[in-house]
Amino acid sequence: MSNIWSNWSGFVSAEPRLIASPGDAGELGDLVRTAPGPVRVAGAGHSFTPLVKSQGTILSLERLEGLVSHDAQKHQARVRAGTRLGALMRILQDIGQGLPNMGDIDRQAIGGALGTATHGSGPTLGAYHTQLETVRIVDGLGKVRDFKRAGDHMIHAIGVALGAFGVLTEVTLNNIATYRLRRRKWVLPITEMLRDFEAMMAAHRSAEFYYIPFSGYAQFIASDLSDAAPTPRPPEADEAGLRTLRRLRTGLAWLPSLRGRLILGAIAKLPAEDYVQDWLNVYASDRQTKFNEMEYHLPFEEGPKALAEIIELTEKRFPEVYFPMEVRTVAPDQFWLSPFYNRLTCSIAIHHDAANDPLPFMRAAEPIFRRYGGRPHWGKIHSLKAAELKKLYPRWDEAMAVRRDIDPQNRFVSPYMAGLFGIET
Ligand SMILES: Cc1cc2nc3c(=O)[nH]c(=O)nc-3n(C[C@H](O)[C@H](O)[C@H](O)COP(=O)(O)OP(=O)(O)OC[C@H]3O[C@@H](n4cnc5c(N)ncnc54)[C@H](O)[C@@H]3O)c2cc1C
Repeated sequence: MSNIWSNWSGFVSAEPRLIASPGDAGELGDLVRTAPGPVRVAGAGHSFTPLVKSQGTILSLERLEGLVSHDAQKHQARVRAGTRLGALMRILQDIGQGLPNMGDIDRQAIGGALGTATHGSGPTLGAYHTQLETVRIVDGLGKVRDFKRAGDHMIHAIGVALGAFGVLTEVTLNNIATYRLRRRKWVLPITEMLRDFEAMMAAHRSAEFYYIPFSGYAQFIASDLSDAAPTPRPPEADEAGLRTLRRLRTGLAWLPSLRGRLILGAIAKLPAEDYVQDWLNVYASDRQTKFNEMEYHLPFEEGPKALAEIIELTEKRFPEVYFPMEVRTVAPDQFWLSPFYNRLTCSIAIHHDAANDPLPFMRAAEPIFRRYGGRPHWGKIHSLKAAELKKLYPRWDEAMAVRRDIDPQNRFVSPYMAGLFGIET
């Protein structure tokens, strides 16, 4: 019987010799030592790049999940790395803690979210890895090793690790006390959004926007702390909206002005959104329509110019595109392989229906992102290899030295990882 592994969108698949789910660190250590190589760890398979792909072994940490301990005073929680974000939210809420920020979905494993610098939006809010206080890994020799933030640069070296710096088994996260958010959504012309970009993104704890292709309009989403009583979160409109955008694309791809007018009509019918809820009921949405995605992290101030070019490219040359483009901001951090290393970031994400080849669109968009100094999201489609990546990451060589120390026999190095990190195998 063959072992087939596939990512969420179906874009990446693998047929490893072994798929295994160890139940404890001992079993995990044995597998790292003896299972057919290369050994790659899977979270929830929500990356679009072949990070998890292996012909040797794919490890799932689904049995290594849940809370280990917590510190109520410091708002810290130690959890097993296979814990899914949805479960993590509920665990934390029950102990009076909250994640300071979240991305669009809650399906990832915390180990996987950390592995690619998964992020939400907010100029003062870092990606998940910035919450790391301690890390426990099983290294490439199968040995358990512990690292802590205080006085130890190793957390910065291995906090964003792409499954190449050992297998994370437990992490301690710095959380905050539970909180409530007021979330509002409204629509505005993209010209205004681009003109007022810096002020609008900075004016809220968390702000992001979606540009709706071929419409000239953006939907802005702002979340701010609130002490008000909760009000019902309106039913999700994203999936119905996507269906409308897809229908108009299919019928009117070559009539862009009519398509644009009909999209505007649909936007006008969007219900206004303004509600207050506990943090765990606000961030995540249900994403059912499958897509592939590219996201680049740019210097904050370059965001509007790059987006304007991406919009022009899309609307001139890629009429098949209908997914809204997502624009977020992320706080700078000190993690060596973090795309947010030392810079306030504007992240721009483009999406393509999973039923069709995303590469022509993404290959055309990538040079624009690169011209503005973009660093690719590790988990989303990009074409960069070690030589190009090294130029984007000032501490690249030091990170690679740490990798060699953790994995001297290259147990975690698949062909894809070898290209990414410039490793000769
Ligand atoms: C619908 C959808 C929405 C998304 N929304 C966002 C978003 O809002 N923001 C954002 O930044 N990204 C987003 N992403 C991308 C996604 O968050 C990342 O690709 C993330 O890494 C996926 O987590 P995962 O658990 O599925 O990990 P996987 O994709 O399975 O693995 C990711 C990496 O982590 C490594 N890894 C996993 N577990 C461990 C472990 N225990 N120890 C060591 N390494 C490990 C893997 O080897 C791999 O290198 C989205 C993706 C999808 C499909």
